[in-house]
Amino acid sequence: MNAARKIGLNLEWLSDCGGCHVAIVDVHEKILDILGAVQIQHCPVLTDIKDYPHADIGIVSGAIRTEHDRHVAQEMRASCDKVIAWGTCAIYGGIPGAALAHSREEILQAVYTRNPTTRTNEAPHSQVALLEKQVIPLDEVIGVDMYLPGCPPHAAFIFDALLALVEGRAPKARQETVCARCTRSMKKSEETRLKSNHDGIPDPDLCLLSQGYVCLGSVTLDRCLSPCPSQGVMCTGCAGPTMQILTEPNRDLRTEVADRMSRLTAIPREEIVASMERSGKSHYAYAMASKMVGEKPTFLIRKWIAEVEEEA
Ligand code: SF4
Ligand code: SF4
Ligand code: SF4
Repeated sequence: MNAARKIGLNLEWLSDCGGCHVAIVDVHEKILDILGAVQIQHCPVLTDIKDYPHADIGIVSGAIRTEHDRHVAQEMRASCDKVIAWGTCAIYGGIPGAALAHSREEILQAVYTRNPTTRTNEAPHSQVALLEKQVIPLDEVIGVDMYLPGCPPHAAFIFDALLALVEGRAPKARQETVCARCTRSMKKSEETRLKSNHDGIPDPDLCLLSQGYVCLGSVTLDRCLSPCPSQGVMCTGCAGPTMQILTEPNRDLRTEVADRMSRLTAIPREEIVASMERSGKSHYAYAMASKMVGEKPTFLIRKWIAEVEEEA
């Protein structure tokens, strides 16, 4: 690439919370190292440009939930030489993907017809883009050249990714889990009880699993520098599963965590498995829309949900 020419950059967001775009601001003054080398052409949070000029790089956050999202994703693919799926929503469906646990009709009823604050009594038929049948990760609709998971990715990873683009190299692809950065020690305990996050104050030094809290740090890719367990909060897996979980069909969040936790405590493995199934909507909230997770023989979330709702 001609060094004098600025790198054309298009940014877009689909169905998401906007946090991945806002997270770019967390890079603070270091962003100046990058801004001089790029030309931001299309970016809904900065510009009111509706068309999609040709760009070297396209950054897309968010999942495909509506027909409009699908159209925008295709426009980005057509206009950008390389497309980056930015954040967990774009890569695995993220939090919008948790809607997999409900049908399109249930969602429309909950948001419009049964919602006491909107009081429309019917779902809109025009002006609002139609929902796709379910939430779809970006790479199931368009080709993706690079992935940056995280909800949102930590500024350190964002800076490295942006700098790598400017320098024309691949970003550092570290594969550590959240546990790798956590300072708590995994030790065998005599704990016999599964706890929820509002159950007491955890010991500050001991691994949360050893204390009976279901922490997903060991099955989650570190794209955050492990802030939650450091503050005594269980990791809920917002950066998405590790490559090991994704690529080995019989490995799963539930089975891996249950194996590890039962070895660290006196809680039976079957009890942990059953508890994680009952809370499947929470434990799989970020990645359940991904085919890599959804097609696992161990992943039966629709069955678990149906059973839990039958019990209720
Ligand atoms: S990945 Fe997280 S921060 Fe990024 S858009 Fe989705 S919900 Fe928001
Ligand atoms: S499971 Fe959670 S608390 Fe335990 S070491 Fe890993 S991140 Fe830390
Ligand atoms: S929930 Fe887990 S992956 Fe998400 S920010 Fe906290 S520690 Fe990181």
